[in-house]
Amino acid sequence: MCGVFGIFDHPEAANLTYLGLHALQHRGQESAGIVSNDEGTLHARVGMGRVAEIFGRDALRQLPGRTAIGHVRYTTSGGSLPRNVQPLTAQNRTGSIAVAHNGNLVNADELRERLEAEGAIFSSMSDTEVILHLMARSGATDIVDQLVAALRAVRGAYSLVLTAGDLLIAVRDPHGFRPLVLGRMRGGGADVVASETCAFDLIDAERVRDIAPGEIWIRGPEGERSVSFAGPDRRLCVFEHVYFARPDSVIDGRSVYESRIEMGRILAEEAPAEADLVMPVPDSGVVAALGYARASGLPFEMGLIRNHYVGRTFIEPEDSIRHFGVKLKLNPVPEILEGKRVVVVDDSIVRGTTSRKIVRLLRQAGAREVHVRISSPPVHGPCHYGIDTPTRKELVASSHTVEEIRSTIEADSLGYLSPDGLRRAVGCEARRGFCDACFTGDYPVPVPRTASKRQLRLIEV
Ligand code: AMP
Repeated sequence: MCGVFGIFDHPEAANLTYLGLHALQHRGQESAGIVSNDEGTLHARVGMGRVAEIFGRDALRQLPGRTAIGHVRYTTSGGSLPRNVQPLTAQNRTGSIAVAHNGNLVNADELRERLEAEGAIFSSMSDTEVILHLMARSGATDIVDQLVAALRAVRGAYSLVLTAGDLLIAVRDPHGFRPLVLGRMRGGGADVVASETCAFDLIDAERVRDIAPGEIWIRGPEGERSVSFAGPDRRLCVFEHVYFARPDSVIDGRSVYESRIEMGRILAEEAPAEADLVMPVPDSGVVAALGYARASGLPFEMGLIRNHYVGRTFIEPEDSIRHFGVKLKLNPVPEILEGKRVVVVDDSIVRGTTSRKIVRLLRQAGAREVHVRISSPPVHGPCHYGIDTPTRKELVASSHTVEEIRSTIEADSLGYLSPDGLRRAVGCEARRGFCDACFTGDYPVPVPRTASKRQLRLIEV
């Protein structure tokens, strides 16, 4: 997962990019970068860690220009190395170019091998670099023509923000797997693009519209225009609504908050529980737990308090830290739990390690019964389009029944939202519109079975 941001023609382009990335920090905490464009000359600052750790006032002052793009990264392919930090910059016949990418290309290895056989030298392990090579080799002199040629060759998920020359460009893959939204600074100001609308709220921009699947949006001194490079087949990642996006964001016109309330409400219908209270696993389960409480009529309580000064446990790369992480992050409130039958709502069970620790914590704090409710269906398969779900064998639901998972996590009962319930919750009556491959096994873009070691962890199915 990653977050991208771009701004065109603003005197404080780098500063606003910094703020935009700060609002998108939940999409990746491993590294961040900003590239500013000062009349065609690019200035880059990238680093490992969080936005506020990398960019001080001095760093931002060294990023002149009225256009800028930025990226926050969580490794999905290519590994966690400083040289994979984005935005990536390169020189080609049209000049300097910088690109920030959210998503994962499923044929990056194949393309890379072909390019390497033809003599290409790669300087990172990131699949985004493949796009830059394909652009450079397209033979075209116009950057949009270069992009169209490159995008016809790549398959998978990509929301891209690029800057080169006097342009800011935003691209969304034909399925629109990952979000990308266009906005404008209030009062007729600069154009902005971002992974999520929460970035606009912080910088006082308003949402204009989503970049359409298969659209290249180009903003230059003459104004804006769009090129459609592929027929759209909208398949927004449903996990954005379940977990990844912030609840205060609106994706493809749908409020994430509303979706999560609905997930909780439908979950209460599908998996009711005889209990005294409903509580969330903060923060990921909060909004769905509210929906569950409203629909069930049970009181909503905060039986677990979160320490906000630790990162998302799942996102820590080391296994040992993840196991330790639950206690670092969550502390029960015995006064609320003592002798109570509790419904605890979380967004998903992936490996199952978090849920078991939470159930134990709640019992130790006095809960009499613990009923776990999950506001999405069992995760059966890995994601190949940019969400960092582990390989199939690490996914507890791929090899265990719901009853077996209940027993593994030591809960009194366990209930999941059904795939159909999830579809209804995100406002999608028909099957299409969303990618729910991790829940249903219906992968909209076929995934090659052979993959190099570099991507083995991701591709293994
Ligand atoms: P576990 O079952 O121990 O693997 O942890 C599952 C929890 O991690 C869920 O409740 C989510 O809050 C969170 N989570 C789920 N998917 C992801 C992801 N792709 N990246 C980071 N965190 C995730």
